[in-house]
Amino acid sequence: MSQSVTVIGLGPMGQAMAAAYLDHGYEVTVWNRTPSRADALVARGATLAATPEEALRTNTLVILSLIDYESMYTAFEGAEQAVAGRVLVNLSSDVPQKARAAARWVAELGGTHLTGGVLSPPPGIGSPDVSTFYSGPREAYDKHRADLEVITGRTDYRGEDPGLAALMYQLNMVIFWPAMLAYWQAVALAGAHGITASQIAPYAADNYAGMRQFIDFYAPRIDAGNHTGDVDRLSMGVASMEHVVHTNADAGVNIAFPQAVLDTFRRGAEAGHGADSFSSLVELLRKPA
Ligand code: NDP
Repeated sequence: MSQSVTVIGLGPMGQAMAAAYLDHGYEVTVWNRTPSRADALVARGATLAATPEEALRTNTLVILSLIDYESMYTAFEGAEQAVAGRVLVNLSSDVPQKARAAARWVAELGGTHLTGGVLSPPPGIGSPDVSTFYSGPREAYDKHRADLEVITGRTDYRGEDPGLAALMYQLNMVIFWPAMLAYWQAVALAGAHGITASQIAPYAADNYAGMRQFIDFYAPRIDAGNHTGDVDRLSMGVASMEHVVHTNADAGVNIAFPQAVLDTFRRGAEAGHGADSFSSLVELLRKPA
């Protein structure tokens, strides 16, 4: 364990990370573009570095929690020499190619880059119950694993490719954002009928919990290329999504999202999959539109 760490970027995530390190007795140095966001942490004993260069030079282990990877280059402009010898753990989210480019950039400067993909909102930071993807040099990961577990719970090391943790994170976001949008859609529809978000919350939560059995059922069949329409047929899905679109339209709420789902279902049926399982949509999605 390092017992001494720098945290760069103090949005809600970076603040929670710095606070968790303080809770565990680490000496914590922080830097943020807007310095006032460090006030509460400084009051608790953190040190605010005057510049990104000072923040880098203070510790070997440097946690980055910025809005994206581009912000790292902006923040470190003029401080590049201080990257040498540092282990930068980049917990900012971005696309895999940018993580790979950042790893090359850091290596050229004589530092080490670990990519992280955090699957928790700020309140989960510091909890052992959350899980975080990591990828990059195994040696650096092994050396700092205990330090990383302080902030991001169970660490899930995916391999040396710096893009892998970013990819695993993005796979989760591909599911998360539309899944939440589906709930917002249901809330809008319920609201048009005087039903509140809280009233439908238990049903929504049961619905999402029930997704597990669908995923467990369909995953091995998809991997085997089996889209047999024995338990469901895409044509049934098209009819059901038409009901969803019409129910929303009749209530006067926005139908853009369910309409996009219906359009995809229809394209699958038009491609000849009407009698197949709706998992056959995967074959449609494997190709560009
Ligand atoms: P915020 O957008 O609140 O914070 C972003 C940080 O980036 C701030 O410190 C901000 O500085 C800094 N920043 C933005 N642009 C620049 C720039 N050009 N130069 C220097 N610094 C810059 O994000 P969060 O704390 O919520 O999230 C941080 C990362 O964690 C993001 O990549 C996010 O996707 C990821 N994440 C967030 C989760 C969440 O629930 N919040 C969950 C999982 C991952 P300033 O204070 O000056 O604006």
